Amino acid sequence: MRAAVLTEIGKPLVLADLEVPPLQVGQVLVKVQFAAVCGAQIGEQAGVKGPDRYLPHLLGHEGVGDVLAVGAGVRTKAVGDRVILHWRPSEGIAAQGAVYDWHGTKVNSGPMTCFSTETIVSENRLTLLPQGVDARVAPLYGCAFTTAYGVIVNDAKVKPGDRVIVFGFGGVGMAVADMAVGAGATVVGMDRVPGKVRMVPEWDGHERDFDVAVDITGDSKVIELAYNVTNKTGRVVLVGVPRHDDPISIDSLPLHFGKQIIGSQGGWCVPHEDIPRIAKFPDYCSPSGWITHEYPLGQINEALDLVRSGQAGRVLVRMDS
Ligand SMILES: [Zn+2]
Repeated sequence: MRAAVLTEIGKPLVLADLEVPPLQVGQVLVKVQFAAVCGAQIGEQAGVKGPDRYLPHLLGHEGVGDVLAVGAGVRTKAVGDRVILHWRPSEGIAAQGAVYDWHGTKVNSGPMTCFSTETIVSENRLTLLPQGVDARVAPLYGCAFTTAYGVIVNDAKVKPGDRVIVFGFGGVGMAVADMAVGAGATVVGMDRVPGKVRMVPEWDGHERDFDVAVDITGDSKVIELAYNVTNKTGRVVLVGVPRHDDPISIDSLPLHFGKQIIGSQGGWCVPHEDIPRIAKFPDYCSPSGWITHEYPLGQINEALDLVRSGQAGRVLVRMDS
């Protein structure tokens, strides 16, 4: 299989031909059709969580593909199933990550990676693709949509009439905004890239009365701003992965009077339950305007550079070429 390998922090991915090992208990072999690039991979490549003891390894955490083979014990997926690849755990066996051979070098993967033509995935990181979902939209159910849904419903508990501000307006941020509107909120979206700021309604930068602030950036200064623009009982939801060496500084007194900071892990969604639920509301997950680019696997570093630049919405990677 052809795969993009992270061999060193801060370096471009290396395209390699890896040998696919035999399937272990609970593992599923998937032929990947599309993956999308998420900020998490930009962070992984930059080493934001600190030293990476799994190098060299594969990456990518939202995709769509077809099941080619199933390992022992797999009951919820079968050969020929069309599946969404997601990083949050769901139904089925939690299998160990596969280790691939690269001319004698071991290449690690986690329960699910998808920047490759094929991939071995833990059964519990796959959900059947709901009917009627377009292949180019499907990868976003693996992270952007499910994270956004969970942030709005589980973390922020958005109610009709709430005022929501979203910091970081890439794919996840735009999905959060769409889901918040779907929940009856008004939304302001902020991004550091001029021209990309979408504000509904206009925000003059002075208001301090948001009910909900969602941070996708992981930047300490942005998190502090998010905290400061929410009202007395506001909920601040942290989605973006912060740098391990970039702590926040806040006045914690308001936390004693009803203000909340909520750390989110992908909205705590349960993919096999939430994906069919989300697919029933296509108006709130129709990213036609914000899937902005598509690259073949061979140009994945260009895709990553573009996402890192902040000049793109969601960027797809196509595996068939
Ligand atoms: Zn993601």
